[in-house]
Amino acid sequence: MQTLKRSLCVMLFLCLAIVPAAAQEGIQLGMPIVVNMMVFSKTKSVTVKIDGEYTIFDGEGKIIQVGTSITKAKLIARLDQFFLANHMIGADRITIKTYGGVHIFLNGNPFGECMEFSINGKGTFSAINRIKLEKYLIGVLAGEIDDDTPLEAMKAQAVISRTFAVFSLLRNPDSKYQMTMTNPQAYRPIFLKQTSSYARAVKETEGVILTYKNCVFPTYFSAVCGGETEFSGNVWELDFELPETIKCPYCRHAPEIEWRYSISLANLKKKLNKGGMKIGEISSIDPKKKSAVSERVTELVIRHSKGITHARSNWLRNALGSDQVRSTNFSVAMEDGKAVFAGRGWGHGVGLCQAGAAEMGKEGCNYQDILRFYYPGSEIKKLD
Ligand SMILES: [Zn+2]
Repeated sequence: MQTLKRSLCVMLFLCLAIVPAAAQEGIQLGMPIVVNMMVFSKTKSVTVKIDGEYTIFDGEGKIIQVGTSITKAKLIARLDQFFLANHMIGADRITIKTYGGVHIFLNGNPFGECMEFSINGKGTFSAINRIKLEKYLIGVLAGEIDDDTPLEAMKAQAVISRTFAVFSLLRNPDSKYQMTMTNPQAYRPIFLKQTSSYARAVKETEGVILTYKNCVFPTYFSAVCGGETEFSGNVWELDFELPETIKCPYCRHAPEIEWRYSISLANLKKKLNKGGMKIGEISSIDPKKKSAVSERVTELVIRHSKGITHARSNWLRNALGSDQVRSTNFSVAMEDGKAVFAGRGWGHGVGLCQAGAAEMGKEGCNYQDILRFYYPGSEIKKLD
């Protein structure tokens, strides 16, 4: 792997705040770009399998073991030493490297060619996968979208997933890891042929990212926007904001466009209190504020036996489960001791609508059309 650092053709800037110009900082990335993904933060044991040549290094980069394969060996930590297949390795930090695309299987799941293990103490250790960005993206596409998604929509997803990964890298360049298997994007470790649609979408957009005014920005996306996208400031406290949202006509026939969720008032009270509220018997829940650009509820008023409580609807969505209350575009009705939520869309609605992008792909739009539609004012650039 090339370790020489050189600047990218596109000077990358990171937009951290609402006013991008106030928070810009130029950062150089090494090429090829490598990301660090936390696979386990705290585990007591993992099964390692490698069908090919490998090397184990200690924390100082000294070779401590070389081999031609590992057949399902248990890696465990005892005090400050690693043991592999009951043999002491003699280090509290080790790196396993393979060559020529040979996978490192952890608990049966295939990962890229470099895995770092560090003992945390009390017999537990962490595992961080150092993986080339383009390979990481194949696993992200597998984690985020179905493999029968139209190719151009898949390519649009590859570009925004790459942009989000670069954003994460620039935001935390010195951290041990910048992403996990679920945050900020879902990663699925799968054994893929280079001819798979995921690999093809990544390959055909290699190095392509989105920028806004020369800034790499967090390219949020959601499953079904429900008709209009949303400002990120209506979902999260502080973030970078694109200046426009859009009306999306493409997801209106998506099967997940409408949803209902009902919960008993007793159970609702329990869940809200578990989330940090202090409320009594609930008598009503009413949307108080709505987004200026969509039908999404931003704030709710909950009337109960101990008084009146205001809640951000996004907080309530998380407290009740984001797969139950699928969006904040909902109404609430009280029926027979239950609160019945009826809504549209799935997800926060910021940025690209995956169902809409798939429909645009089916209708013959290319990935550039899709990206320009969902991120107005953004530019498509290539890292070389
Ligand atoms: Zn949509």
